[in-house]
Amino acid sequence: MVHRTTRLGLRLTRVLRSAGDVWACVLEISGWRRRRGDPPEAGYQQWCRLLAQSGPGTFGELDTTGARSVLRRYTDAWFSAAARRKAGAIEVRYPRRRRSLMPIRWYHGTFTLTGRTLRLPTARGCPPLLLRLDRPSPYPTDTIRAVTLLYTDGRLHIDVTTELPITTYPNGEQPDPGRAAGIDLGIIHPYAVAGPDGDSLLVSGRAIRAEHRLHLADTKRRRRATAARAPARGQRRSRRWRKTRHRAGQVEGRHRRRLRQALHEATTTVIGWAVDRRIGTLTVGDPRGVLDQSCGRRHNLRLRQWQIGHTLRMLQDKAAFAGIRVHLVDERGTSSTCPHCKHRISKPAGRVMTCPHCRFAGHRDLAAAFTIATRTPGGVTTVPPAMGGVVTHRRAGQHLPGVRTARRDPRRRHHSRRRQGPLAGGGPPHHPPVGSRSPTSVSEDPQHHRTQPGKCSWTPH
Ligand SMILES: [Zn+2]
Repeated sequence: MVHRTTRLGLRLTRVLRSAGDVWACVLEISGWRRRRGDPPEAGYQQWCRLLAQSGPGTFGELDTTGARSVLRRYTDAWFSAAARRKAGAIEVRYPRRRRSLMPIRWYHGTFTLTGRTLRLPTARGCPPLLLRLDRPSPYPTDTIRAVTLLYTDGRLHIDVTTELPITTYPNGEQPDPGRAAGIDLGIIHPYAVAGPDGDSLLVSGRAIRAEHRLHLADTKRRRRATAARAPARGQRRSRRWRKTRHRAGQVEGRHRRRLRQALHEATTTVIGWAVDRRIGTLTVGDPRGVLDQSCGRRHNLRLRQWQIGHTLRMLQDKAAFAGIRVHLVDERGTSSTCPHCKHRISKPAGRVMTCPHCRFAGHRDLAAAFTIATRTPGGVTTVPPAMGGVVTHRRAGQHLPGVRTARRDPRRRHHSRRRQGPLAGGGPPHHPPVGSRSPTSVSEDPQHHRTQPGKCSWTPH
């Protein structure tokens, strides 16, 4: 008697691989047509006809609905590229890159979801795909319109798309469109909100910035450690290198999930705050006009990590669900205008804005949010901040590992190095000034923190 173990693969990724085959096939046919000088076969209907002609079984166990969703993805990408090229963006290219695992979407009626079991259709003659989800759908089953099977961040996921009605409120508690709040988006504070009665909300982004910084340091360290393992040029199929890349992808995915969660929580805080105060209009300063100019290596990195378009979309989505209107206005000059006497003053270096004309002193981001609120289309009545209103402080990303005091403030590392003695650091011992955590004065903008020559430098953001 012998005992043997064999490892059997799952059919799950084979379906995704078939979808990748559909994608590659479409790219290849487009390539042939282009080389032959034929007009491009861009329409979804034409592609579906081609798929029907190729007959069942061409793409393994992938069913027609799933294969068509890949064709839809291709034609959407093609037409958006064509529209942008027509508008003058020559650098935009048509879809050309192959992917081994392609997301597949099934629309309502083609799948069944009961509890945590999802049943997906496959090609004729093959048994259906039964998936067990790690949690039940947070939305009622009858609101689900589509499910998407995809492989991202080193994991398989199901994206559930639902159609939900806008929130209804008891009489007298619904948001009033006449009550408007201004929102200033930022890096130090992702949201600074100035409400109509002088109340305001400040959401701190310290944990998000810490997560960015720690992730960058981590990535650099890992790259340095694995550089020796990198395969030689032309060497193929290094298992060790594949594992290293897989691990890096997983860490990257965790970083992205953490940031997304923190941003979701911050946005929910803002919307909840607005609903409590019956605010029906949110006026948001759109900073995207100033993002195109280059501001140096560090600031460019900071701006790229900010994910402004993502933040705006999230805010608009959550506001629409809560029945709140969102206006985007130009935010130019709002952080250098006194909210009280409307004088133009120089942009404060720190977080506190003081006006030499009327002795106003208040938080710079809240002052900007107030000025943004006054730009609401149609006009609104608002009370300037710091005139007796309540300032609510909230933190984004309470769950992030960077929140803890020990890892939160990178400047604290100077203290621990000092404790190790002068021999450990390889330089003269660093004495931080008494009474301050940082080598520079606290009133200075932490964004423009300068490192002294010869000291360990960190990338602030
Ligand atoms: Zn003033």
